Amino acid sequence: MTLIACWSEPAGLKCASDSRLTRNDESVLTEAGGKLFTIPVKCKYLVEEGKWGNDFSYTLGFAFAGSTLLANNTHALASTLTQQLTSKETGDVPSAKTVANIYCFVAEYVIKDRNMREHTAGRLYFEALIFGYCPVEKTFVCHCIKHEITDNSFSMKVESWHEKGPFMGTIGDSSARANFITKVYRKNAAGNHPDPLHTFRDVIEDENISTVGGAVQVAISEKDGTSIYPLLTADEKNPDSIILSLAGLDVTYGMDGFAFFMKSIELGLEKFMGRLALKNKGLDPDERVPQKTQNLASMEEGLRQVHGTGQSLKIDDQCTIDSVKPVMAGHYVSAICKSCKKTTPLMLAPRGFDKSKIRGNGSLISICWHCKLPVCASPGSYEMQTWNLPTL
Ligand SMILES: [Zn+2]
Repeated sequence: MTLIACWSEPAGLKCASDSRLTRNDESVLTEAGGKLFTIPVKCKYLVEEGKWGNDFSYTLGFAFAGSTLLANNTHALASTLTQQLTSKETGDVPSAKTVANIYCFVAEYVIKDRNMREHTAGRLYFEALIFGYCPVEKTFVCHCIKHEITDNSFSMKVESWHEKGPFMGTIGDSSARANFITKVYRKNAAGNHPDPLHTFRDVIEDENISTVGGAVQVAISEKDGTSIYPLLTADEKNPDSIILSLAGLDVTYGMDGFAFFMKSIELGLEKFMGRLALKNKGLDPDERVPQKTQNLASMEEGLRQVHGTGQSLKIDDQCTIDSVKPVMAGHYVSAICKSCKKTTPLMLAPRGFDKSKIRGNGSLISICWHCKLPVCASPGSYEMQTWNLPTL
């Protein structure tokens, strides 16, 4: 089975899938299964008798759950049709709904032809999303094609999940979908919703859900089209290095001098960054370290990474960090302890660090160096402090 989710983002839509293909008994067939495709839509117009031109083209995304054979066959035939559209009416643009209708038409043929050779129990189906920016409706749309059986008669139909405002649609394995939806709408301790892509990744990596897994694949739809993005991620085999991955395939080095992709999405870099943070703090990343030690190391590494750049460090959850042991003349991001009213250091910062680079409505929880009581402080209340007290 599969998990596919498609949701709205400020610039358009994002769609994610897993890459695991399973057998009928739910055992893993492969984790190299591509389930996201771009649909090239091309139309030519009759310019004069026997001459076609004035090409119009755009792209949409296609994601499926269910039978891989039937979905791949459908995409092979349907995308051939969407690239060979013609019209005698110049300016008559094929809409995303028309593309969904083409996929629906082809899917019905492909599924019927395969299933008429099988008894009921052996019949296969799939459902799919066709999504992206529609040049006719001039908005982002998501159409779902699925099968319907009424009076023993099978047909495919198109459901239009038009988005007005925030949109979240899923298809695939029902328990994985329920798990994802529950997590994505659950606010964290700071009252923020999690990032859907990170939540999606967590569900794919959850070993308790065996029907989905493998690598995360991502497609992004913007006004100028839909593209599949590779992930910039920590290498599974060597977590101290970063690779460019497409459905788990390492595409870092390109081919014959050509690179693959212009853009990528960072996902799963936390593992790499977490290890880097520990190493920079003189800790062995292969040792088990307490979570709050890791959190402090990662926060301090974050400060170093954004220092002197245009970037900022976002804290949008409650995060418990190890208490720092300040050293003479060290620079610290500090906060005023509500219990003893003294300024206590939270984390070591580079010299000259600009505290306004720490943003977000989350907070850090540490232990006050003076009174040893818990201190909880949000980015807006931080101060920079140079430590000038003896610490021993
Ligand atoms: Zn205190």
